[in-house]
Amino acid sequence: MPLPVHTDPRAAVPELTAYLRNELDPQARQDFEAHLPLCERCRKAVAVAGSLFPGMAQPPPTAGAAPSAAELLAQMEAQLARTRERNRRLQDSRRRNLLWALGVLAALASLGAIGFTLLQNRAGLAHRVTTGGGP
Ligand SMILES: [Zn+2]
Repeated sequence: MPLPVHTDPRAAVPELTAYLRNELDPQARQDFEAHLPLCERCRKAVAVAGSLFPGMAQPPPTAGAAPSAAELLAQMEAQLARTRERNRRLQDSRRRNLLWALGVLAALASLGAIGFTLLQNRAGLAHRVTTGGGP
């Protein structure tokens, strides 16, 4: 009979560890493998463990060579943190690009304003010169 789907990831750790270390008895192993298609957390954990440590769910060559659940969790969390960091940096660079574009626009606008003011002054000066007026 398959295990119930894990809602608390920590609850999955003992079974996951035992499975990855090949310490489950055949019946428990069968139950856990029946549980995998139902439980996304466990499936992902096994997939991550499999990608980090190829051949992990097979019998380990030496006893105790497999990392502990805590190590596995730490590695999964580190991977998650790296993904989050990458996303954050991506967002940051997008924000920076936007700020840069706004800064350029503001600079252009102020340049435009300065240019306009200069033109106005020159026009005013020209006006004064051509009309012979002025202070
Ligand atoms: Zn599970």
